[in-house]
Amino acid sequence: MEKAKLVLHHDDPPCDKRLEKDGSCRSCQLTPDMQSTCLWSYCPSCDVPLEKMVCPTCRKTFKMPA
Ligand SMILES: [Zn+2]
Ligand SMILES: [Zn+2]
Repeated sequence: MEKAKLVLHHDDPPCDKRLEKDGSCRSCQLTPDMQSTCLWSYCPSCDVPLEKMVCPTCRKTFKMPA
């Protein structure tokens, strides 16, 4: 089984947007500290968030990266 890709998201309710590569949140226009972030699992080929470890686009199942 392929491993999911982990993507950093803002975790500061109500904002759960995907963070930029430099760790900044485009919608809040700030760079959250690590306590205000969480990792989401993504499909590495479709680049969309997985739903219960299944890609909603290609329907493949992934496992958490070790
Ligand atoms: Zn944000
Ligand atoms: Zn996919």
